[in-house]
Amino acid sequence: MAQPSMQSAYPEVHSEVRKFISGRSRRMLIDGKWVEAASGKTFTTYDPATEEPLAEVPAGDKEDVDRAVRAARKALESGAWPRTTPSERGRMLWKLADLIEAHGEEFAQLETLDNGKPVAIARVADIPLVVDQFRYYAGWATKVEGETIPVSIPGQRMLCYTRREPVGVVGQIIPWNFPLLMAAWKLGVALACGNTVVLKPAEQTPLSALRLGELITEVGIPPGVVNIVTGLGETAGAAIASHPDIDKVAFTGSTEVGHLIMQAAGKSNLKRVSLELGGKSPNIIFADADLDQAAVGAANAIYFNHGQCCCAGSRLFVEQNVYDKLVPRLVEYSEKIKLGPGMDPSTDMGPLVSSEQYQRVTSFLKAGKNEGAKVVTGGDRPKQLDKGYFVAPTVFTDVKPDMKILREEIFGPVVCAIPFKDPNEVLAAGNDTEYGLAAAVWTKDIQKAHRLAEGLKAGTVWINCYNMFDAAAPFGGYKQSGFGREMGKAALELYTQIKTVWVNLGEA
Ligand code: NAP
Ligand code: MG
Repeated sequence: MAQPSMQSAYPEVHSEVRKFISGRSRRMLIDGKWVEAASGKTFTTYDPATEEPLAEVPAGDKEDVDRAVRAARKALESGAWPRTTPSERGRMLWKLADLIEAHGEEFAQLETLDNGKPVAIARVADIPLVVDQFRYYAGWATKVEGETIPVSIPGQRMLCYTRREPVGVVGQIIPWNFPLLMAAWKLGVALACGNTVVLKPAEQTPLSALRLGELITEVGIPPGVVNIVTGLGETAGAAIASHPDIDKVAFTGSTEVGHLIMQAAGKSNLKRVSLELGGKSPNIIFADADLDQAAVGAANAIYFNHGQCCCAGSRLFVEQNVYDKLVPRLVEYSEKIKLGPGMDPSTDMGPLVSSEQYQRVTSFLKAGKNEGAKVVTGGDRPKQLDKGYFVAPTVFTDVKPDMKILREEIFGPVVCAIPFKDPNEVLAAGNDTEYGLAAAVWTKDIQKAHRLAEGLKAGTVWINCYNMFDAAAPFGGYKQSGFGREMGKAALELYTQIKTVWVNLGEA
């Protein structure tokens, strides 16, 4: 059985985090109870900075998903949830946000230990965004409204109105790159709209979701409303996607698994599907941009979260006449990034999440070199770190349109820098991908900026900025980056269904 390694490696770890990891994390949340997997099996989650085991968590599978779905169905149909008023739901979500904030340091450390991200970043990015997410949807709980429709039936007086009702039992499958934040994106809106949930965190990063489950019970959200089943994608995840009594599945992860989710939904009960998948986002810098701002922006676009972002700016297009100015600045910035364990507060970039992800990213580095692209910085693991899944920030130049590193999502700190001549050429090149999650344009010319924003086939376009997120701003993909919009008012569409009611008002 895994022994927690962090005790010796990180003496500063919060005492609550220690207690949680060494004991309570062995149970998952079903029907308001903390239970083991029906099979009794567990799996190990690792600290990617040390490659050592961190904790054991239940390896939930089909039987556990069944139990969780029964609990969610009961809570939806006959339990306390339908009797909870929208105002009470809103207050519970607000209270949950307050509690997460109060335990913010614990959550930041859990994310760092499990995922590898710098704790300094988790504190200022992940956790505040999580808190905001629940506060934002706490406000929506009392505003999920229908409409009255002015219908025209000759000779009859009719009242026609719509109700926005919950979709029902929803399955939510989330990835490892922002473990707690992805849980928050999915749970806040689902609960505000009155659904019940079976959530499966990624096998690499199950801990923060389990800790969140403790706070969910603490704020009085009734048993069965939120069930958290830890387990592997091929078993627990697949059981959610094909379950006959789940009404909707929301998935964030790879495009490859997105295809499987849709197939499973189609083969089972035609459950509704929303998908937030991969990306290969174009980040376009024109010569008339503020180049200081754009160079830092280009670095943040690719290196934030070690490039493990679905919207990472992994294709950097730079106007030809400033290419030789901008690329060296990006290289200089890349070489200043301090790699190390995320628990070290001075670390800028931690390890990749897992051995599998390390293999994947380094295989892309090899492919790039073999195909003839030029590594101008990075290209390997950093020499000074012999343990942990570290990859140096990497810039490729001399990249050709059909190279693997330019076409496929790498999901690591690796960017391809490509020169371009004019707006039409870069628009075509930017859109030359099966993905369409995000894009960015850097220029001081507002006409050019907005023309590009219109032409780019992406769910989000940033102008003179990158990686801007807000609970109120919708986010999601074009093309094979998925469909459905999370966050903002738009997400209510995913978690409600419209019922039309006709009332015959009679003759009088
Ligand atoms: P993934 O396999 O798509 O995993 C995402 C989630 O889906 C995890 O909870 C995973 O569970 C689950 N899953 C896996 N196979 C499943 C199946 N057959 N049925 C139902 N659920 C299943 O992604 P990954 O392996 O973690 O990463 C691979 C690539 O995915 C990355 O390199 C990147 O391209 C992409 N990715 C995208 C995002 C994003 O935010 N859009 C996030 C992470 C990864 P387990 O983890 O337990 O297997
Ligand atoms: Mg996986």
